[in-house]
Amino acid sequence: MPAEIAIRAEHLSKRYGARSALDDLTFEVRRGEVFGLLGPNGAGKTTAVRLLAGLTEPSGGAGWVLGLPLGDREARRRIGYMPELFRHPPWLTGREVLWAHARLAGIAVRAGRREIARVLAEVGLEARADERVGRYSKGMQQRLALAAALLGEPDVVLLDEPTSALDPVGRREVREHVREIRARGAAVILNSHLLSEVERVCDRVAVVRAGRVVAQGTVDELCGRPGLRIRLERPDDAVRTALEPFGTVRADGEWLDVDAADPARIADAVAAAVAAGGRVVGVETRRGTLEDRLLELLGGQGG
Ligand code: ATP
Repeated sequence: MPAEIAIRAEHLSKRYGARSALDDLTFEVRRGEVFGLLGPNGAGKTTAVRLLAGLTEPSGGAGWVLGLPLGDREARRRIGYMPELFRHPPWLTGREVLWAHARLAGIAVRAGRREIARVLAEVGLEARADERVGRYSKGMQQRLALAAALLGEPDVVLLDEPTSALDPVGRREVREHVREIRARGAAVILNSHLLSEVERVCDRVAVVRAGRVVAQGTVDELCGRPGLRIRLERPDDAVRTALEPFGTVRADGEWLDVDAADPARIADAVAAAVAAGGRVVGVETRRGTLEDRLLELLGGQGG
């Protein structure tokens, strides 16, 4: 497995009795890449992440994290995992919860003190670190779970719905953390139903339906390249012909749509329309949204 590949899943499957939770899941995530798993409830995203974290064993297929087989102890030490549902013992303080995680991750006491201070500052919980977790709000508990996943600067970070309880400010902070994790060369898997979050932060995404990947690629690859729309006082054939070198042109009332226009050539396309005598009164770029594409892939009927 090439060193730049941090995670590889090959035909992974997981059955619970007669139920198939995951079926033939194959994908790779490189170091320094954020990979999003999208799909309806029950599609198998949590199962996939739990398999990668070594918390459950596959029924079929295989996977590697940092070149080591799933469940390997050394690999597990280098994985930060933030579960979708986190339950911290309510009588412990936030700091004590982090100490427990630091010990499990094999972090020595002196480094642990420094790491705990660092992650508490990162998630904005320093001032509340010595309060009992039972008194934390849901968002604070979620921040604590993220802090635990960031302990020891893991090389692979698995985030299962990391912002479901967070306010918009908290969501933006998590996006920034994810970018920082990527910038230091770690691989991140992000499960999220928040498509705007996925669009903003993921380098590539896989759409999972009933345990299978039904589409995979960058958001641009999945949604198609942006199209250009030019509104004219009177669209005519001369303008249309002038726009043809930039993409497929379709008339829509006062608008001419140029599909698959290269974003770097938008100014040239508008200049060509003007040079051909067009009186341009509006310009828009548009792209199918991830939501539209997802609903199309999922046939509007969920998992
Ligand atoms: P959500 O978006 O709702 O979190 P998900 O994509 O994460 O969904 P999973 O939690 O991976 O989906 O579940 C996939 C399927 O596996 C579901 O049908 C679920 O009921 C089943 N499943 C998951 N864990 C277990 C378990 N421990 N025992 C039995 N079935 C399970």
